[in-house]
Amino acid sequence: MIQNQQNGKQEKVKFLTLGCRLNQYETQAMRENLLGAGYSEVRAGEQANVFVINTCTVTSEADKESRYLIRKCQRENPEAKIVVTGCYAERDYKTLLETPGVTHVVLNRQKSDLANLLDSCTQLTFQDPSQPLRSKAEFVPLQISKFSGRTRAFLKVQDGCNHACSFCKVVLVRGKSRSRELQDILEEAVRLRDHGYREIVLTGVQLGAYGLDLERKLTLSDVIDAMAPIDGIERIRLSSIEPNDVTDFLIETMRNTPKMCHHLHIPVQSGSDIILRGMNRRYQSDYYDALIQKLNERLESFILTTDVMVGFPGETDKDFQATVDLLLKTHPFKLHIFPYSPREGTRAFPLKPVAKEIVEKRITVLSQLEEKLRREVALHYLDSVCDMIVEESNEKAWLEGRAHNYLPILIPRVSGIATGDLIQARVIGYEEHRLMGELVRKN
Ligand code: SF4
Repeated sequence: MIQNQQNGKQEKVKFLTLGCRLNQYETQAMRENLLGAGYSEVRAGEQANVFVINTCTVTSEADKESRYLIRKCQRENPEAKIVVTGCYAERDYKTLLETPGVTHVVLNRQKSDLANLLDSCTQLTFQDPSQPLRSKAEFVPLQISKFSGRTRAFLKVQDGCNHACSFCKVVLVRGKSRSRELQDILEEAVRLRDHGYREIVLTGVQLGAYGLDLERKLTLSDVIDAMAPIDGIERIRLSSIEPNDVTDFLIETMRNTPKMCHHLHIPVQSGSDIILRGMNRRYQSDYYDALIQKLNERLESFILTTDVMVGFPGETDKDFQATVDLLLKTHPFKLHIFPYSPREGTRAFPLKPVAKEIVEKRITVLSQLEEKLRREVALHYLDSVCDMIVEESNEKAWLEGRAHNYLPILIPRVSGIATGDLIQARVIGYEEHRLMGELVRKN
């Protein structure tokens, strides 16, 4: 029985997602919520009559892109329902309510009720009067069972952040840290396993704060210990985690759990202690350096990736050089390089930003440094044998995937090997940011 029809026709929905892994997870949850309510997702070339835009507000660029997508969808189908949700909607819903074409503004905590909201509210509104608005302090349980187009599945375990970095708008829209019940997490991991996902990526905003707010004070290690015994899940990976949240206990859990991936994305932001203080980050450069050394000592083949911000107000050449020096010491395989973006409502907003041309020069320096660091890290693995989960790829002649420690690997396509297979590959070279390999055997 098709529930959602407009003029006798089934509602066709198109999802557009900006931003982080959490947003991608939440789009999947909204997808399953609407498809479960009788909507169908448009295929290429089909016209949608419902657009769900899951926005981001981490930078002013993200705001611009959110507005651009709204206008584009409206142009694509002026009759359509335009549903705007996500972090930009959370902060700027008043503006959105006045934006021509926008029919629904849905807050992050309402994402789990999307189908009901679209059913019960036809006019310009952002709340279903019959449903009490959940408090921002509540963890809103979203559910997924698969992750479209991916071999690894993101699993949201936490939301919000207890920190207050002076440049960050995320904490203003996502609120304080709150955690998902452990049982709920495990049930979702089993659902994903049942749909063939062999790698689970635990995801949150301040992932390392998991469990601190629960009655039974838990930590990420409790999630890992409970998830590791699930047959069929081959790998557990952590998404981004703050330096101060990488405790000795967590490191030992990673060391003693064979399924744990020896890769961490630990944002450093800057190598200058003066700038780190200005950012209200909770560590200094020597702490970060010592942490990465410890991870290299305790975790075999450990790989670091990180975020670096360029041009935070007051950043001098000396500060920037301190960032370069710290990166040379800690050797990340990948850098996410962000130019500082003044965000209204943040403590850094009133401060005078660094001149654009200086920021651009520094971004060029870091991009070149990243090339060098990637090559050095990759060549370290020459002739070694790595495990790899084969991912979906458009490459006809090649199979691609990621090693346990997140290194991207490419091997010549071999018959009998399919997406999702766990294989062993010998590293024979490095090209275009990827390790080149050859098949050793299929696990
Ligand atoms: S740790 Fe800092 S940058 Fe990250 S979400 Fe929290 S406040 Fe924002």
